[in-house]
Amino acid sequence: MKKGVVIKSTGSLYLVRIGSDEVIPCKIKGSLRTKSIKSTNPVAVGDQVLLAFQKNDQFGIISEVLDRKNYIIRKSSNLSRQTHVIAANIDQALLIVTIIRPRTTLRFIDRFLATAEAYRIPAILVFNKIDLYGKEENAELASTLNIYEKIGYRCLKVSALTGQGMEGFDDILSGRVSLLSGNSGVGKSSLINRMEPSLNLKTEKISDYHLKGKHTTTFSEMHKLSNGGFIIDTPGIKGFGLVNMDKDEIFHFFPEIFKISHQCKYYNCLHTSEPGCAVMEALRNDQINLSRYESYYSIFMGDQDEKYR
Ligand code: GDP
Ligand code: ZN
Repeated sequence: MKKGVVIKSTGSLYLVRIGSDEVIPCKIKGSLRTKSIKSTNPVAVGDQVLLAFQKNDQFGIISEVLDRKNYIIRKSSNLSRQTHVIAANIDQALLIVTIIRPRTTLRFIDRFLATAEAYRIPAILVFNKIDLYGKEENAELASTLNIYEKIGYRCLKVSALTGQGMEGFDDILSGRVSLLSGNSGVGKSSLINRMEPSLNLKTEKISDYHLKGKHTTTFSEMHKLSNGGFIIDTPGIKGFGLVNMDKDEIFHFFPEIFKISHQCKYYNCLHTSEPGCAVMEALRNDQINLSRYESYYSIFMGDQDEKYR
């Protein structure tokens, strides 16, 4: 038995990396079942698997999928309740953000961060295109950084165009498995291509399709970087879409709100209009940022993702 990591899946055939360089085409064992969830795909990119080999067979056989530390999913289709696992075992999720051209809204950032919390994936904000920022944009950048750094989220300032801040970007990706998200046009492909010209990711092209609402079958893929890191490319998926959260657990995914919620008078406080709510009090004292609270409230009220592209 050898252990490997799935780097690509096309439905019936899988590419599995063993060690750092050996890549083997694999099939899955007929009787393979996943313990964790009901999904249309038992094996996903990022999965750690055990391989068996049969004599004279060019394919390895995936005989077991090891427990996932986390995974992201989407519904197989709008009608279906079945889920599709997009990727597993992600070390961190990077959201590429821009203040202008295009403008990434705070609502969008907060929905991304809350989803990452729900998936238990550490999230990092990467502000790109800083070469474009004038006085006004820099002031906005500073106040935005202030909101998120205060909560404890790591933030980075970069320019894919000039190369500013790229050492920090390289550093963050090094040795880890990262997921890159962001609205189209924020510079995801530019950042990666600047760092790793040989990859030539097709992010933009595919998310265009997505915008037009065409159905395309696309497969995630894990790319190796020369700094020892890996990027999971998930064509057509810009953010990760809000997961289903129970109304009474949404505040768990806003770390600063969650922290203060322990001081609320009622244990089942939902921080909207309850008496003795410590979160509302913190809001009045500016200890909790209003925009963050509004994002919480918007998710609480059931606003859909489409509103916040
Ligand atoms: P993606 O859709 O997120 O992959 O975005 P792209 O990488 O395709 O970039 C969208 C546009 O923004 C392209 O015209 C890039 O040349 C431009 N762009 C990307 N990064 C920067 C940057 O740091 N500064 C400036 N000025 N333009 C950038
Ligand atoms: Zn409360």
